[in-house]
Amino acid sequence: MPTPETILKSTFGYDTFKPLQREIITNVQARRDTLVIMATGGSKSLTYQVPALMFSGLTVVVSPLIALMKDQVEQLRALGVPALFINSSLSPEEYQGNMDAVRRGEIKLLYVAPETLLTPRIFSLLSSLKLDLLAIDEAHCISEWGHDFRPEYRQLAEVRKKFPSAVCMALTATATPRVRADIMSTLGFSQANEFQSSFNRENLFIEVRPKREGVAQTLRFLENFKDQSGIIYCFSRRQVDELSDAIARHGFSVRPYHAGLEDSERRRNQEAFIRDDVQIIVATIAFGMGINKPNVRFVIHFDLPKNIESYYQEIGRAGRDGLPSHCLLLYTYADVNKIRYFIDQKDDPERSTSMQHLDAMTRYAEGSICRRKPLLAYFGETFVNENCGACDNCGTEQTAQVDITIPAQKFLSCVKRSGERFGAAHVVDILLGSKNEKIEKYNHHELSTYGIGKELTKSQWMHISRQLVERGLLEQEPAYRVLSVTAKGLEMLKSREQVKGVVLSGSKDQINEAQKKERGARVKSSEFEYDRSLFSQLRNKRKELADEAGLPPYVIFSDKTLVEMAGYFPQSQESLLNISGVGKVKFERYGAAFLAIIKEYCRSNKIDEKYKAPAREADKDAGRRYITVGEAYNAGESIQSLMKRYAVTADTILNHLARFILAGNPLRSAEDLIALSNLSPDQQMAVFKAFDTMGSDALKPVYEKFNNTISYDELRILRLCYLCEER
Ligand code: ADP
Ligand code: ZN
Repeated sequence: MPTPETILKSTFGYDTFKPLQREIITNVQARRDTLVIMATGGSKSLTYQVPALMFSGLTVVVSPLIALMKDQVEQLRALGVPALFINSSLSPEEYQGNMDAVRRGEIKLLYVAPETLLTPRIFSLLSSLKLDLLAIDEAHCISEWGHDFRPEYRQLAEVRKKFPSAVCMALTATATPRVRADIMSTLGFSQANEFQSSFNRENLFIEVRPKREGVAQTLRFLENFKDQSGIIYCFSRRQVDELSDAIARHGFSVRPYHAGLEDSERRRNQEAFIRDDVQIIVATIAFGMGINKPNVRFVIHFDLPKNIESYYQEIGRAGRDGLPSHCLLLYTYADVNKIRYFIDQKDDPERSTSMQHLDAMTRYAEGSICRRKPLLAYFGETFVNENCGACDNCGTEQTAQVDITIPAQKFLSCVKRSGERFGAAHVVDILLGSKNEKIEKYNHHELSTYGIGKELTKSQWMHISRQLVERGLLEQEPAYRVLSVTAKGLEMLKSREQVKGVVLSGSKDQINEAQKKERGARVKSSEFEYDRSLFSQLRNKRKELADEAGLPPYVIFSDKTLVEMAGYFPQSQESLLNISGVGKVKFERYGAAFLAIIKEYCRSNKIDEKYKAPAREADKDAGRRYITVGEAYNAGESIQSLMKRYAVTADTILNHLARFILAGNPLRSAEDLIALSNLSPDQQMAVFKAFDTMGSDALKPVYEKFNNTISYDELRILRLCYLCEER
């Protein structure tokens, strides 16, 4: 008799269950009705698919979206699971064929639309079979209080009564307490069987940026996502068309998607996106409901979403495969007014509700606390971490602060000498010694500050000027953006007091650079090391196989699976089966093709296979790894070598060591650790002193004591050294 664990590994190729999956499966196996609430991408499907494979009879899955049904069925069939769908998209022959297959008992999972389920034909078909599980996906459609009420869903209560021996599951990504209660009472569930997992999606980097020149900002963002899939949401159809044209003109592969397009064109564009033939979709919110594409690497909100709930749903479409993904919202107050104008056309109470939603959205966008706090609070969850490490408000301290006193002095005196009558761009032109009409007109080439700033680029200077405004050394008059030196600025010029700030690295493109830094910081803590060039070969192979089979590439293997292959270099059947996402059937179908590429690549590049602990061993080990790591470190193994051995980042090793110390174990000298710090010995001492007086449990007070100039990464390293010495 297979267990959920063996099915997970042999059919799906996964090593461990995600949080709550196992509990839900146990509950369903015990034939208790179950309500599952998990974020989009939270891995709901597996919770009914595994029980479906364990029950002897049929599982019926009710789903409102034809596209999703097709997608799920394709994915299951690729895993070797007998699944089918019946809905209005089928030809009469296909319909009959599928009915027959179900009647013959060849099918384990049958996907149907709710209205199909209610037809007498299907009803009588199901009555003649043993129905073990009825899974209702997108269950919030049952409730009039939900955002997507569908009357057909109400009648599922009837269906449920007709099959009393089948256990029933309701699954949804969004449910307010009211909707939740509604689902439970409509379907006659009892309270005890509700499972809600955290809505936090750790792999999403969440960022809000002021929208200045939206199109240019978007293009710069895209530069960092060459060849990667992403969705850009706009407010209006016109905006969609304009933006997608602009992006296309810059050589990106992009298609529009909105209600103004012909059905057939919409479908074509969506299909091209799903199949990786097109990289980017620019869409109104109408896009995405029927999309299950797991390798969406970014979601951009070009305009402000109407409320937090839809915003969270939309960013949730990024990174379903669990790999790091980026969510960017471009925010300007002008967009708030635009939406307000539309809301004003409505009547109360709808008008006031919408207004409240918009206010919450605006507060979110303008907020300076961790982005995850308000988002999760919306779903009734408290996010307790002081620093999530993966949002703009938590991540910015990672940019290195340096001494910018000299550039600051140059800039301020140039503003002064040109008479405090110009904007930043002109001041920068003077500093760079540019020749243009305006310079000549005002005789600015004769100023002593003319041409004294050639060591930096225009964008570096512009960025410095913004920092000087932020620090109150310069003032910017709002109408014409004219700069003047404040009293504080004059004081600084006189006293030659040190100014700290960020100098963007040499690129011409500031935002691009700043962003690379952010991404760099993020990637450091969460990304698995893998060989990009092997990955791209594997990806090409996947595309080729997918096109041959007429399937989306992710149905063959997910990006995550290819990333693991390109990180562990498995070269035997056994080690390939050990890769996440490689189950028995997929191995039989595609294993040879991928092994051949990996072997050839390793041979010509002289790379050896890396050891990946098999599932069960890893499982056992995971909870105790900190002990193994701590002991190995004490036995003389270096941080570098530990990183390599476990294929993890320095951060992870440091975390293990911290746990090791906190569990009361001594750690050998801090030498290796201190070598990881980039601070000067003086700075390090200052931090240790701070730990002495402020304690080292919470890093935030220390971080603030140093005016946010020492990164959390540094503080973590030093805390470890500190604890180590203390012992
Ligand atoms: P949802 O329906 O909740 O939006 P899915 O069921 O589509 O999410 O799951 C999201 C992704 O996570 C899918 O690619 C799925 O294969 C993957 N996944 C689910 N369970 C596991 C697991 N235990 N280990 C690894 N990946 C998993
Ligand atoms: Zn955060």
